[in-house]
Amino acid sequence: MASVLVVEDDQFVRSALIRHLTEASHTVRSVGTALEALREVAHFRFDVVVLDLGLPDLDGAEALKMLRGITDVPVIIATARDDETEIVRLLNDGADDYLVKPFSVEHLSARMTAVLRRARAAGAEPPPTLIRVGGLSIDPLRRQAELDGLPLDLTRREFDLLAFLAGRPGVVVPRKELLAEVWQQSYGDDQTIDVHLSWLRRKLGETAAQPRYLHTLRGVGVKLEPPRSEPGR
Ligand code: CA
Repeated sequence: MASVLVVEDDQFVRSALIRHLTEASHTVRSVGTALEALREVAHFRFDVVVLDLGLPDLDGAEALKMLRGITDVPVIIATARDDETEIVRLLNDGADDYLVKPFSVEHLSARMTAVLRRARAAGAEPPPTLIRVGGLSIDPLRRQAELDGLPLDLTRREFDLLAFLAGRPGVVVPRKELLAEVWQQSYGDDQTIDVHLSWLRRKLGETAAQPRYLHTLRGVGVKLEPPRSEPGR
């Protein structure tokens, strides 16, 4: 599965994490200080780092910054403080996700899976040359989109949103995933998405009440699919 570096000074938490991650067939190395963590990532390749923020030698934010200085390995921070401002700051400083202690192993596994999927997708094959869904045609390289042969004038974010959804036609994309993939945030409010969706809808000539391509499934997510056959069009 994945090779994981656990950075945690609490011996009890650390052994529990190692045991559970190993049982889930991950390869685990572990250290108890930030400096040891830096040495580890300099010498070994990890798929993900789980970083405790309360370490004896360095402040968590400091540790994250130094890690980021030498590697772009995905980092999930584990914090005992449910402090929104602090978490948002760390996410902006390069953390990929976070967990508030105490967390369950299932929760950690889920976060790890999501972070790994994102990391792998980012490093995977180049974007396709052209995405076509119904009358939509999207060129990710040139960042141009057309609807029924007419160019769409989209902002950067609208384009990213459209291209991401069009790349998985018919799939309901959860809002969390949109935030992560289009906004590169693992944390944010739904309004951001709603506002951009409504702008995008207007440019596609549709409304939430009468969708053609963009369908919002309340409480679930958003999907893009070709319009059903429309008499008279
Ligand atoms: Ca600690």
